[in-house]
Amino acid sequence: MNILAINGGTPVRTKLFPAYKYIAQEEKDAALRVLDSGILSRYLGCWDDDFYGGPEVQAFEKEWAVFFGVKHAIAVNSCTSGLIAALGSIDLEPGDEVIVPPYTMSATATAPLWYGAIPVFADIEPNYFCIDPASVEKKISKYTKAIIAVDIFGQPHNATAIADIAKRHNVKVITDCAQAPGAMYKGKYAGTVTDLGVYSLNYHKHIHTGEGGVVVTNDDTLAEKVQLIRNHAESVVGDKGVTDLVNMVGQNYRLTEMQAAIGREQLKKLLMLTDQRITNCNYLAKGLSEIPGILAGSVREESRHVFYIQPFLYDEKKIGVSRNAFIDAVKAELPASQLREGEGPLLGTGYVKPLYLLPLFQKRMAFGKKGWPFTMAENRNISYDKGECPVAERLHEKELFSTEMMRPPATQADLDDVIAAFQKVYDHKDEIPKE
Ligand SMILES: *Cc1c(COP(=O)(O)O)cnc(C)c1O
Repeated sequence: MNILAINGGTPVRTKLFPAYKYIAQEEKDAALRVLDSGILSRYLGCWDDDFYGGPEVQAFEKEWAVFFGVKHAIAVNSCTSGLIAALGSIDLEPGDEVIVPPYTMSATATAPLWYGAIPVFADIEPNYFCIDPASVEKKISKYTKAIIAVDIFGQPHNATAIADIAKRHNVKVITDCAQAPGAMYKGKYAGTVTDLGVYSLNYHKHIHTGEGGVVVTNDDTLAEKVQLIRNHAESVVGDKGVTDLVNMVGQNYRLTEMQAAIGREQLKKLLMLTDQRITNCNYLAKGLSEIPGILAGSVREESRHVFYIQPFLYDEKKIGVSRNAFIDAVKAELPASQLREGEGPLLGTGYVKPLYLLPLFQKRMAFGKKGWPFTMAENRNISYDKGECPVAERLHEKELFSTEMMRPPATQADLDDVIAAFQKVYDHKDEIPKE
């Protein structure tokens, strides 16, 4: 135990961490029920009873709406498609600007591009990691049509401040709630406190159907537009008597019956699964916070954080070793998790590179060769330069690290191994190889 594993010593643990696998008999029965029916999807892209999909899709939507306490839930085949449909529903125009955070999955920032709108990046909060209202306020322009707030890592964004800005500037707010189903803000479920909310059901998320998503809203007009965009709007509007044709070019964003049937079972497990995560995260936060220079990320006041991943802050000055070198040494002490063996220990430095640093934004090249839609905003003051969001950059480059090793069914004994690995590396920090 006295030599760091990265220097050839014995690691703290080699037995894989348990898989996060909650697809069980209920989901099998649900899938079989659909297979036995012979109807694997029941949509028609015209104004017909089947415009709204089959019985499993409709039951899933009803149950999702009841659970989250929202008027409309619209099942789609991914959060990415849900974000695009949500933006279409608010009548996004080519040339409009949409304010997004840079520290999120790329689809948050690319969704506006599909309508020819321009993503504008606002910085994030240093302690909570969500979009920073003060930065949003600075990025509002006469072209701003919407804000996409992301409940990143499972933490609800500051919806009170964002709603206040949106109201004063007459812009819409969409929550990208992919990482936060079951999170709460001031007594309401995350995703339900803005004009629209969008959840993901992809394999990596808290609950899943392989691929999938749900859009929620309390607004009847927005709900109808999302339903139309999901299912070939252009072929439906005439017979349905819809006269507002803005963004009524449809897609096929339809979730299948089998996915919906599985989703109904997964939804029943959401609170149990998020409760276990919260318990584990509190335990790990307490254990790792004993180490000087390591601090668990904060949970916003009046909020329930559901920890898609668990973030921590690392203080290089206090520890005297860079974050990357320290985390590399911890990783050498710990194994991967079952079902994700290829990824190594589920412990990472930073999250994603701030999105404006992607080639798409650096080169301003999206559709075609000529730089559309960025060309529409050529004489505006929109920057994707390095330094644009200094908090996100600093967190990414130096301060933030995160883990998924706290996912259920990890036990306190499993987490004790994680804590022991950090403690061992800290105790031997002078022996950590330089980067
Ligand atoms: C996973 C994720 C998405 C995309 O979800 P899909 O269902 O895979 O399209 C979007 N935003 C965030 C923040 C995510 O974590």
